[in-house]
Amino acid sequence: MSLADRLGFDPARCFINGQWILPQSGQSLALENPSTGETIGRIARGGADEIDAAVGSARASLDGVWGRSTAVERGRILTRIGQLVLENVDLLAELEAMDVGKPLTQARNDAVALARYMEFYGGAADKVHGQTIPYLDGYTVYTLREPHGVTGHIVPWNYPMQIIGRSVGAALAMGNAAVLKPAEEACLTALAFARIAHEAGLPAGALNVVPGLGEEAGAALTSHPGVNHISFTGSVGVGSLVQQAAARNVAPVTLELGGKSPQIVFSDADVDKALPFLVNAGIQNAGQTCSASSRILVHQSVHDQIIERMSERYGNLRVGPASEDLDVGPLISARQRAVVAGFLDVARNDNLTFAAQGTIVDHAPGGGHYIAPTLIAGLTPDHALAQDEIFGPVQVILPFDSEEEAVAIANGTDYGLVAGIWTRDGGRQMRLAKSIHAGQVFINNYGAGGGVELPFGGVAKSGHGREKGFEALYGFSILKTVAAHHG
Ligand code: NAD
Repeated sequence: MSLADRLGFDPARCFINGQWILPQSGQSLALENPSTGETIGRIARGGADEIDAAVGSARASLDGVWGRSTAVERGRILTRIGQLVLENVDLLAELEAMDVGKPLTQARNDAVALARYMEFYGGAADKVHGQTIPYLDGYTVYTLREPHGVTGHIVPWNYPMQIIGRSVGAALAMGNAAVLKPAEEACLTALAFARIAHEAGLPAGALNVVPGLGEEAGAALTSHPGVNHISFTGSVGVGSLVQQAAARNVAPVTLELGGKSPQIVFSDADVDKALPFLVNAGIQNAGQTCSASSRILVHQSVHDQIIERMSERYGNLRVGPASEDLDVGPLISARQRAVVAGFLDVARNDNLTFAAQGTIVDHAPGGGHYIAPTLIAGLTPDHALAQDEIFGPVQVILPFDSEEEAVAIANGTDYGLVAGIWTRDGGRQMRLAKSIHAGQVFINNYGAGGGVELPFGGVAKSGHGREKGFEALYGFSILKTVAAHHG
Protein backbone atom coordinates (compact mmCIF):
# COMPACT_ATOMS: atom_id res chain seq x y z
CA MET A 1 0.00 0.00 0.00
CA SER A 2 1.40 3.43 -0.93
CA LEU A 3 2.03 6.08 1.70
CA ALA A 4 -0.79 8.20 0.23
CA ASP A 5 -3.21 5.25 0.54
CA ARG A 6 -2.17 4.64 4.14
CA LEU A 7 -2.63 8.31 4.99
CA GLY A 8 -5.82 8.91 3.06
CA PHE A 9 -4.25 11.97 1.40
CA ASP A 10 -1.30 12.83 -0.82
CA PRO A 11 1.55 14.10 1.43
CA ALA A 12 2.89 16.17 -1.47
CA ARG A 13 -0.03 18.57 -0.99
CA CYS A 14 -0.69 21.41 1.44
CA PHE A 15 -3.85 21.54 3.53
CA ILE A 16 -5.47 24.92 2.90
CA ASN A 17 -9.08 25.91 3.52
CA GLY A 18 -10.04 22.29 4.15
CA GLN A 19 -8.63 21.17 0.77
CA TRP A 20 -5.51 19.24 -0.28
CA ILE A 21 -3.72 21.62 -2.64
CA LEU A 22 -0.64 21.10 -4.83
CA PRO A 23 1.90 23.93 -4.50
CA GLN A 24 1.72 26.37 -7.40
CA SER A 25 5.39 25.75 -8.18
CA GLY A 26 4.59 22.04 -8.58
CA GLN A 27 7.70 21.32 -6.51
CA SER A 28 8.16 18.75 -3.80
CA LEU A 29 10.84 17.68 -1.32
CA ALA A 30 12.12 14.16 -0.62
CA LEU A 31 11.21 12.65 2.73
CA GLU A 32 13.86 10.43 4.30
CA ASN A 33 13.53 7.61 6.80
CA PRO A 34 16.41 8.33 9.24
CA SER A 35 16.57 4.67 10.29
CA THR A 36 17.57 3.58 6.78
CA GLY A 37 18.50 6.71 4.84
CA GLU A 38 15.90 5.72 2.22
CA THR A 39 13.47 8.13 0.57
CA ILE A 40 9.98 7.19 1.68
CA GLY A 41 7.92 9.76 -0.16
CA ARG A 42 7.65 13.36 -1.19
CA ILE A 43 6.14 16.34 0.58
CA ALA A 44 5.01 19.67 -0.79
CA ARG A 45 7.52 22.44 -1.17
CA GLY A 46 5.07 25.16 -0.24
CA GLY A 47 6.19 28.76 -0.63
CA ALA A 48 4.99 32.34 -0.39
CA ASP A 49 1.92 31.65 -2.60
CA GLU A 50 0.68 28.83 -0.38
CA ILE A 51 1.38 30.80 2.79
CA ASP A 52 -0.59 33.71 1.37
CA ALA A 53 -3.49 31.41 0.51
CA ALA A 54 -3.34 29.81 3.97
CA VAL A 55 -3.34 33.17 5.74
CA GLY A 56 -6.27 34.28 3.54
CA SER A 57 -8.18 31.13 4.37
CA ALA A 58 -7.50 31.56 8.10
CA ARG A 59 -8.72 35.15 7.93
CA ALA A 60 -11.87 34.08 6.08
CA SER A 61 -12.60 31.46 8.75
CA LEU A 62 -12.35 34.19 11.41
CA ASP A 63 -14.82 36.27 9.45
CA GLY A 64 -17.06 33.21 9.12
CA VAL A 65 -18.30 30.28 11.16
CA TRP A 66 -15.08 29.76 13.16
CA GLY A 67 -14.95 33.40 14.20
CA ARG A 68 -18.54 33.17 15.46
CA SER A 69 -18.00 29.93 17.38
CA THR A 70 -18.51 30.00 21.14
CA ALA A 71 -15.88 28.80 23.57
CA VAL A 72 -18.08 25.80 24.37
CA GLU A 73 -18.26 24.84 20.69
CA ARG A 74 -14.50 25.17 20.26
CA GLY A 75 -13.96 23.07 23.36
CA ARG A 76 -16.21 20.32 21.99
CA ILE A 77 -14.37 20.27 18.66
CA LEU A 78 -10.97 20.06 20.35
CA THR A 79 -12.20 17.26 22.59
CA ARG A 80 -13.47 15.39 19.51
CA ILE A 81 -10.10 15.89 17.82
CA GLY A 82 -8.47 14.38 20.92
CA GLN A 83 -10.73 11.33 20.71
CA LEU A 84 -9.94 10.84 17.02
CA VAL A 85 -6.22 11.23 17.70
CA LEU A 86 -6.51 8.45 20.27
CA GLU A 87 -8.30 6.24 17.73
CA ASN A 88 -5.40 6.89 15.32
CA VAL A 89 -2.54 6.46 17.80
CA ASP A 90 -1.06 3.44 16.03
CA LEU A 91 -1.00 5.15 12.64
CA LEU A 92 0.43 8.38 14.08
CA ALA A 93 3.11 6.47 16.01
CA GLU A 94 4.07 4.52 12.90
CA LEU A 95 4.32 7.70 10.82
CA GLU A 96 6.43 9.47 13.42
CA ALA A 97 8.74 6.48 13.85
CA MET A 98 9.26 6.36 10.08
CA ASP A 99 9.64 10.11 9.64
CA VAL A 100 11.64 11.12 12.74
CA GLY A 101 13.37 7.81 13.54
CA LYS A 102 11.76 7.78 16.98
CA PRO A 103 11.47 4.35 18.63
CA LEU A 104 7.83 3.26 18.42
CA THR A 105 7.08 3.52 22.15
CA GLN A 106 8.37 7.09 22.25
CA ALA A 107 6.43 7.94 19.08
CA ARG A 108 3.30 6.47 20.63
CA ASN A 109 3.80 8.56 23.77
CA ASP A 110 3.91 11.66 21.57
CA ALA A 111 0.63 10.70 19.87
CA VAL A 112 -1.02 10.16 23.26
CA ALA A 113 0.35 13.52 24.41
CA LEU A 114 -1.17 15.16 21.31
CA ALA A 115 -4.56 13.72 22.30
CA ARG A 116 -4.02 14.90 25.87
CA TYR A 117 -3.31 18.46 24.68
CA MET A 118 -6.59 18.43 22.75
CA GLU A 119 -8.44 17.16 25.82
CA PHE A 120 -6.80 19.73 28.07
CA TYR A 121 -7.43 22.69 25.76
CA GLY A 122 -10.87 21.35 24.87
CA GLY A 123 -11.75 21.40 28.55
CA ALA A 124 -10.11 24.78 29.17
CA ALA A 125 -11.60 26.67 26.22
CA ASP A 126 -14.64 27.94 28.15
CA LYS A 127 -12.81 28.56 31.43
CA VAL A 128 -10.79 31.63 30.52
CA HIS A 129 -12.55 34.50 32.21
CA GLY A 130 -12.05 38.23 32.27
CA GLN A 131 -12.17 40.33 35.41
CA THR A 132 -14.23 43.19 36.76
CA ILE A 133 -12.10 46.04 38.09
CA PRO A 134 -13.29 48.43 40.82
CA TYR A 135 -12.95 51.95 39.45
CA LEU A 136 -14.40 55.42 39.86
CA ASP A 137 -17.97 56.04 40.96
CA GLY A 138 -20.34 55.63 38.03
CA TYR A 139 -18.13 53.20 36.08
CA THR A 140 -18.19 49.49 35.42
CA VAL A 141 -14.88 48.18 34.12
CA TYR A 142 -14.22 44.67 32.89
CA THR A 143 -11.74 42.78 30.74
CA LEU A 144 -12.27 40.49 27.77
CA ARG A 145 -9.90 37.84 26.41
CA GLU A 146 -9.95 37.91 22.63
CA PRO A 147 -8.02 35.94 20.00
CA HIS A 148 -5.04 37.51 18.22
CA GLY A 149 -6.55 36.51 14.88
CA VAL A 150 -4.33 34.53 12.50
CA THR A 151 -1.58 32.70 14.37
CA GLY A 152 1.53 31.29 12.66
CA HIS A 153 3.10 28.13 14.10
CA ILE A 154 6.59 27.05 13.08
CA VAL A 155 7.47 23.62 14.38
CA PRO A 156 10.75 21.62 14.42
CA TRP A 157 11.19 17.95 13.58
CA ASN A 158 12.02 16.55 16.98
CA TYR A 159 8.56 16.45 18.62
CA PRO A 160 6.11 17.48 15.90
CA MET A 161 3.00 16.06 17.58
CA GLN A 162 3.70 17.42 21.06
CA ILE A 163 4.59 20.88 19.78
CA ILE A 164 1.57 21.05 17.47
CA GLY A 165 -0.58 19.95 20.40
CA ARG A 166 0.63 22.60 22.77
CA SER A 167 0.69 25.54 20.39
CA VAL A 168 -2.09 24.89 17.86
CA GLY A 169 -4.31 23.41 20.61
CA ALA A 170 -4.09 26.52 22.79
CA ALA A 171 -4.44 28.87 19.80
CA LEU A 172 -7.62 27.18 18.55
CA ALA A 173 -9.10 27.03 22.06
CA MET A 174 -8.88 30.83 22.22
CA GLY A 175 -10.54 31.23 18.80
CA ASN A 176 -7.50 31.96 16.65
CA ALA A 177 -7.15 30.51 13.15
CA ALA A 178 -3.82 28.76 12.63
CA VAL A 179 -1.29 28.43 9.82
CA LEU A 180 1.16 25.65 10.61
CA LYS A 181 4.57 25.28 8.93
CA PRO A 182 5.98 21.91 9.99
CA ALA A 183 9.68 21.10 9.60
CA GLU A 184 10.79 19.91 6.17
CA GLU A 185 12.40 16.85 7.80
CA ALA A 186 9.17 15.61 9.41
CA CYS A 187 5.72 16.64 8.16
CA LEU A 188 3.62 13.49 8.07
CA THR A 189 1.98 13.69 11.50
CA ALA A 190 1.25 17.41 11.00
CA LEU A 191 -0.65 16.57 7.81
CA ALA A 192 -2.37 13.57 9.42
CA PHE A 193 -3.40 15.81 12.31
CA ALA A 194 -4.98 18.27 9.85
CA ARG A 195 -6.98 15.43 8.33
CA ILE A 196 -8.10 14.25 11.78
CA ALA A 197 -9.05 17.77 12.89
CA HIS A 198 -11.09 18.23 9.72
CA GLU A 199 -12.87 14.91 10.30
CA ALA A 200 -13.60 15.96 13.87
CA GLY A 201 -15.50 18.99 12.57
CA LEU A 202 -12.94 21.80 12.69
CA PRO A 203 -14.27 24.30 10.12
CA ALA A 204 -12.29 24.87 6.92
CA GLY A 205 -9.60 27.51 7.32
CA ALA A 206 -9.28 27.26 11.10
CA LEU A 207 -6.17 25.09 10.62
CA ASN A 208 -3.99 25.20 7.51
CA VAL A 209 -0.76 23.26 7.02
CA VAL A 210 1.93 24.37 4.57
CA PRO A 211 5.01 22.12 4.46
CA GLY A 212 8.12 23.61 2.90
CA LEU A 213 11.60 24.91 3.55
CA GLY A 214 12.24 27.23 6.46
CA GLU A 215 13.78 29.96 4.34
CA GLU A 216 10.83 29.82 1.91
CA ALA A 217 7.51 28.86 3.55
CA GLY A 218 8.77 29.64 7.09
CA ALA A 219 10.15 33.05 6.20
CA ALA A 220 7.00 33.88 4.20
CA LEU A 221 4.85 33.07 7.22
CA THR A 222 6.88 35.10 9.72
CA SER A 223 6.94 38.17 7.48
CA HIS A 224 3.32 37.99 6.30
CA PRO A 225 1.46 41.18 7.32
CA GLY A 226 -1.76 39.20 7.82
CA VAL A 227 -0.29 37.11 10.65
CA ASN A 228 -1.08 38.46 14.11
CA HIS A 229 1.04 36.19 16.32
CA ILE A 230 3.94 33.81 15.73
CA SER A 231 4.78 30.79 17.82
CA PHE A 232 8.22 29.48 16.90
CA THR A 233 9.96 26.39 18.27
CA GLY A 234 13.45 25.72 17.01
CA SER A 235 17.02 26.92 17.11
CA VAL A 236 18.31 30.16 18.60
CA GLY A 237 19.62 31.43 15.27
CA VAL A 238 16.35 30.97 13.40
CA GLY A 239 14.36 32.18 16.42
CA SER A 240 16.21 35.47 16.27
CA LEU A 241 15.44 35.78 12.53
CA VAL A 242 11.78 35.03 13.21
CA GLN A 243 11.59 37.70 15.89
CA GLN A 244 13.20 40.25 13.55
CA ALA A 245 10.78 39.40 10.71
CA ALA A 246 7.75 39.59 13.01
CA ALA A 247 8.98 42.91 14.44
CA ARG A 248 8.51 44.54 11.03
CA ASN A 249 4.79 43.86 11.40
CA VAL A 250 4.88 44.44 15.17
CA ALA A 251 3.52 40.90 15.58
CA PRO A 252 4.11 39.31 18.99
CA VAL A 253 6.22 36.14 19.10
CA THR A 254 6.64 33.22 21.44
CA LEU A 255 10.09 31.68 21.12
CA GLU A 256 10.74 28.16 22.41
CA LEU A 257 14.42 27.63 21.72
CA GLY A 258 17.29 25.44 22.85
CA GLY A 259 18.78 24.44 26.15
CA LYS A 260 21.71 22.97 28.09
CA SER A 261 19.70 21.82 31.02
CA PRO A 262 21.39 20.56 34.19
CA GLN A 263 20.42 17.96 36.75
CA ILE A 264 22.19 18.64 40.04
CA VAL A 265 22.91 15.71 42.33
CA PHE A 266 23.83 16.47 45.94
CA SER A 267 25.45 14.03 48.37
CA ASP A 268 22.12 13.35 50.14
CA ALA A 269 20.25 12.51 46.89
CA ASP A 270 18.23 9.34 46.49
CA VAL A 271 20.57 7.99 43.81
CA ASP A 272 18.43 4.94 43.02
CA LYS A 273 15.49 7.20 42.25
CA ALA A 274 17.60 9.72 40.35
CA LEU A 275 19.46 7.30 38.06
CA PRO A 276 16.79 6.56 35.44
CA PHE A 277 16.04 10.30 35.18
CA LEU A 278 19.72 11.19 34.88
CA VAL A 279 20.18 8.89 31.90
CA ASN A 280 16.78 8.93 30.20
CA ALA A 281 16.59 12.72 30.13
CA GLY A 282 19.79 12.71 28.10
CA ILE A 283 19.07 9.96 25.61
CA GLN A 284 15.31 10.25 25.01
CA ASN A 285 14.67 10.87 21.31
CA ALA A 286 18.44 10.35 20.80
CA GLY A 287 19.09 13.50 22.83
CA GLN A 288 17.26 15.63 20.25
CA THR A 289 15.11 17.25 22.90
CA CYS A 290 15.14 20.95 23.79
CA SER A 291 14.81 20.05 27.48
CA ALA A 292 17.33 17.20 27.30
CA SER A 293 19.42 17.07 30.45
CA SER A 294 22.80 17.28 28.80
CA ARG A 295 24.72 18.37 31.91
CA ILE A 296 24.90 16.24 35.06
CA LEU A 297 26.32 18.23 37.98
CA VAL A 298 27.41 15.99 40.85
CA HIS A 299 28.79 16.71 44.29
CA GLN A 300 32.42 15.53 44.59
CA SER A 301 31.45 13.00 47.27
CA VAL A 302 29.17 11.08 44.86
CA HIS A 303 30.99 11.84 41.60
CA ASP A 304 32.62 8.42 41.11
CA GLN A 305 29.54 6.54 42.28
CA ILE A 306 27.28 8.40 39.83
CA ILE A 307 29.67 7.81 36.93
CA GLU A 308 29.84 4.12 37.76
CA ARG A 309 26.10 3.71 38.06
CA MET A 310 25.29 5.79 34.97
CA SER A 311 27.88 3.73 33.08
CA GLU A 312 26.07 0.51 33.99
CA ARG A 313 22.92 1.93 32.43
CA TYR A 314 24.75 3.25 29.38
CA GLY A 315 26.21 -0.23 28.91
CA ASN A 316 22.69 -1.61 28.47
CA LEU A 317 21.53 1.01 25.95
CA ARG A 318 20.83 -0.37 22.47
CA VAL A 319 20.62 1.86 19.41
CA GLY A 320 18.83 0.79 16.24
CA PRO A 321 15.94 1.29 13.81
CA ALA A 322 12.81 2.99 15.14
CA SER A 323 10.67 0.02 14.13
CA GLU A 324 12.60 -2.23 16.55
CA ASP A 325 11.67 0.04 19.45
CA LEU A 326 15.04 -0.06 21.18
CA ASP A 327 16.27 2.52 23.71
CA VAL A 328 17.60 4.95 21.12
CA GLY A 329 16.85 5.51 17.43
CA PRO A 330 18.89 7.29 14.76
CA LEU A 331 19.45 11.02 14.58
CA ILE A 332 17.20 12.89 12.17
CA SER A 333 19.72 13.40 9.36
CA ALA A 334 23.28 12.88 8.17
CA ARG A 335 23.84 16.58 8.86
CA GLN A 336 22.74 16.26 12.49
CA ARG A 337 24.85 13.14 12.90
CA ALA A 338 27.90 15.01 11.58
CA VAL A 339 27.31 17.83 14.10
CA VAL A 340 27.20 15.38 17.02
CA ALA A 341 30.17 13.37 15.73
CA GLY A 342 32.06 16.69 15.49
CA PHE A 343 31.51 17.31 19.20
CA LEU A 344 32.80 13.81 19.98
CA ASP A 345 35.89 14.52 17.85
CA VAL A 346 36.51 17.64 19.93
CA ALA A 347 36.19 15.52 23.08
CA ARG A 348 38.76 13.06 21.69
CA ASN A 349 41.17 15.79 20.63
CA ASP A 350 40.92 17.42 24.06
CA ASN A 351 41.55 14.07 25.80
CA LEU A 352 38.25 14.10 27.66
CA THR A 353 37.15 10.88 29.32
CA PHE A 354 34.63 8.71 27.44
CA ALA A 355 33.12 7.41 30.68
CA ALA A 356 30.45 5.25 29.04
CA GLN A 357 28.86 4.43 25.69
CA GLY A 358 25.82 2.52 24.45
CA THR A 359 25.90 0.08 21.57
CA ILE A 360 24.62 0.37 18.01
CA VAL A 361 23.13 -3.01 17.06
CA ASP A 362 25.14 -4.87 14.40
CA HIS A 363 22.27 -5.09 11.94
CA ALA A 364 21.45 -1.33 12.04
CA PRO A 365 21.13 -0.27 8.36
CA GLY A 366 24.29 1.39 7.06
CA GLY A 367 22.34 4.34 5.64
CA GLY A 368 20.80 5.19 9.04
CA HIS A 369 22.13 8.10 11.11
CA TYR A 370 23.14 6.24 14.24
CA ILE A 371 25.38 7.43 17.02
CA ALA A 372 26.13 5.66 20.29
CA PRO A 373 24.98 7.49 23.43
CA THR A 374 28.06 8.82 25.19
CA LEU A 375 28.83 10.06 28.70
CA ILE A 376 31.79 12.44 28.84
CA ALA A 377 33.78 13.30 31.99
CA GLY A 378 36.99 15.13 32.80
CA LEU A 379 35.99 18.56 31.45
CA THR A 380 35.52 22.01 32.95
CA PRO A 381 32.20 23.89 32.88
CA ASP A 382 33.51 26.33 30.26
CA HIS A 383 34.35 23.59 27.73
CA ALA A 384 32.34 23.66 24.48
CA LEU A 385 30.74 20.29 25.30
CA ALA A 386 29.48 21.76 28.58
CA GLN A 387 28.29 25.00 26.99
CA ASP A 388 26.84 24.28 23.55
CA GLU A 389 23.60 22.50 22.75
CA ILE A 390 24.79 19.27 21.07
CA PHE A 391 21.32 17.94 20.23
CA GLY A 392 22.41 14.32 20.28
CA PRO A 393 22.74 11.56 22.91
CA VAL A 394 25.76 13.09 24.64
CA GLN A 395 25.85 14.02 28.32
CA VAL A 396 28.67 15.60 30.28
CA ILE A 397 29.33 15.14 33.97
CA LEU A 398 30.67 18.06 36.00
CA PRO A 399 31.76 17.88 39.66
CA PHE A 400 31.11 20.64 42.23
CA ASP A 401 32.14 21.25 45.85
CA SER A 402 29.45 23.54 47.26
CA GLU A 403 25.87 24.62 46.71
CA GLU A 404 27.11 28.03 45.52
CA GLU A 405 29.38 26.42 42.96
CA ALA A 406 26.55 24.15 41.75
CA VAL A 407 24.31 27.17 41.16
CA ALA A 408 27.10 29.06 39.39
CA ILE A 409 27.75 26.13 37.03
CA ALA A 410 24.02 25.54 36.47
CA ASN A 411 23.53 29.21 35.55
CA GLY A 412 26.77 29.46 33.61
CA THR A 413 25.49 28.93 30.05
CA ASP A 414 23.59 31.10 27.58
CA TYR A 415 20.46 28.99 28.15
CA GLY A 416 17.82 28.57 30.84
CA LEU A 417 15.11 26.06 29.98
CA VAL A 418 14.82 23.28 32.58
CA ALA A 419 16.74 22.14 35.67
CA GLY A 420 16.52 19.17 38.03
CA ILE A 421 17.63 19.17 41.67
CA TRP A 422 18.28 15.95 43.56
CA THR A 423 18.50 16.46 47.33
CA ARG A 424 16.51 15.55 50.43
CA ASP A 425 17.31 18.92 52.07
CA GLY A 426 14.10 20.98 51.93
CA GLY A 427 15.84 24.32 52.47
CA ARG A 428 18.27 23.61 49.66
CA GLN A 429 15.40 22.60 47.38
CA MET A 430 13.70 25.96 47.94
CA ARG A 431 16.91 28.00 47.63
CA LEU A 432 17.90 26.38 44.36
CA ALA A 433 14.41 26.53 42.90
CA LYS A 434 14.68 30.31 43.29
CA SER A 435 18.30 30.84 42.29
CA ILE A 436 18.44 28.70 39.17
CA HIS A 437 17.71 30.50 35.92
CA ALA A 438 15.22 28.29 34.10
CA GLY A 439 11.60 28.20 33.01
CA GLN A 440 10.97 24.94 34.85
CA VAL A 441 12.70 23.49 37.94
CA PHE A 442 12.05 19.91 38.99
CA ILE A 443 12.77 18.74 42.53
CA ASN A 444 13.58 15.05 42.87
CA ASN A 445 12.23 14.32 39.38
CA TYR A 446 12.87 15.59 35.89
CA GLY A 447 10.34 16.47 33.23
CA ALA A 448 7.34 15.42 35.36
CA GLY A 449 6.21 12.97 32.72
CA GLY A 450 5.71 15.56 30.01
CA GLY A 451 3.30 17.69 31.99
CA VAL A 452 0.76 18.96 29.46
CA GLU A 453 -0.64 21.05 32.34
CA LEU A 454 2.68 22.66 33.30
CA PRO A 455 3.63 26.04 31.80
CA PHE A 456 6.82 25.68 29.79
CA GLY A 457 9.33 28.05 28.24
CA GLY A 458 12.75 29.53 28.67
CA VAL A 459 14.76 32.44 29.94
CA ALA A 460 17.75 34.03 28.19
CA LYS A 461 18.56 32.27 24.89
CA SER A 462 16.08 29.49 25.62
CA GLY A 463 13.43 31.95 24.51
CA HIS A 464 10.47 33.82 25.94
CA GLY A 465 6.75 33.38 26.36
CA ARG A 466 5.07 30.32 27.83
CA GLU A 467 3.28 27.40 26.21
CA LYS A 468 1.55 24.40 27.78
CA GLY A 469 -0.86 24.54 30.69
CA PHE A 470 -3.38 27.30 31.22
CA GLU A 471 -0.71 29.95 30.80
CA ALA A 472 -0.61 29.34 27.03
CA LEU A 473 -4.22 30.47 26.76
CA TYR A 474 -3.20 33.92 27.98
CA GLY A 475 -0.35 34.00 25.45
CA PHE A 476 -2.71 33.09 22.61
CA SER A 477 -5.17 35.86 23.49
CA ILE A 478 -5.28 39.62 23.93
CA LEU A 479 -6.68 41.36 26.97
CA LYS A 480 -9.15 44.13 26.22
CA THR A 481 -10.29 46.55 28.94
CA VAL A 482 -13.84 47.91 28.70
CA ALA A 483 -14.72 50.95 30.82
CA ALA A 484 -18.40 51.87 30.84
CA HIS A 485 -19.56 55.17 32.35
CA HIS A 486 -23.18 54.89 33.33
CA GLY A 487 -23.41 57.55 36.02
P1 NAD B 1 15.45 25.09 13.17
O1 NAD B 1 15.45 26.41 13.84
O2 NAD B 1 16.47 24.84 12.14
O3 NAD B 1 14.04 24.81 12.45
C1 NAD B 1 12.82 24.93 13.16
C2 NAD B 1 11.73 25.34 12.20
O4 NAD B 1 12.03 26.63 11.69
C3 NAD B 1 11.57 24.42 10.99
O5 NAD B 1 10.19 24.27 10.69
C4 NAD B 1 12.25 25.21 9.89
O6 NAD B 1 11.76 24.90 8.60
C5 NAD B 1 11.91 26.62 10.27
N1 NAD B 1 12.79 27.65 9.72
C6 NAD B 1 14.09 27.52 9.33
N2 NAD B 1 14.54 28.70 8.84
C7 NAD B 1 13.53 29.59 8.92
C8 NAD B 1 13.40 30.96 8.61
N3 NAD B 1 14.39 31.67 8.08
N4 NAD B 1 12.21 31.56 8.86
C9 NAD B 1 11.20 30.87 9.42
N5 NAD B 1 11.26 29.56 9.73
C10 NAD B 1 12.42 28.93 9.49
O7 NAD B 1 15.53 24.07 14.35
P2 NAD B 1 15.67 22.49 14.25
O8 NAD B 1 17.07 22.14 13.98
O9 NAD B 1 14.61 21.97 13.35
O10 NAD B 1 15.27 22.08 15.77
C11 NAD B 1 16.20 21.98 16.75
C12 NAD B 1 16.18 23.18 17.68
O11 NAD B 1 14.87 23.38 18.19
C13 NAD B 1 17.05 22.95 18.89
O12 NAD B 1 17.79 24.11 19.18
C14 NAD B 1 16.05 22.67 19.99
O13 NAD B 1 16.50 22.93 21.28
C15 NAD B 1 14.92 23.54 19.60
N6 NAD B 1 13.67 23.08 20.22
C16 NAD B 1 13.13 23.80 21.24
C17 NAD B 1 11.98 23.37 21.88
C18 NAD B 1 11.38 24.16 23.01
O14 NAD B 1 10.22 23.95 23.31
N7 NAD B 1 12.11 25.05 23.66
C19 NAD B 1 11.36 22.19 21.46
C20 NAD B 1 11.92 21.46 20.42
C21 NAD B 1 13.08 21.94 19.80
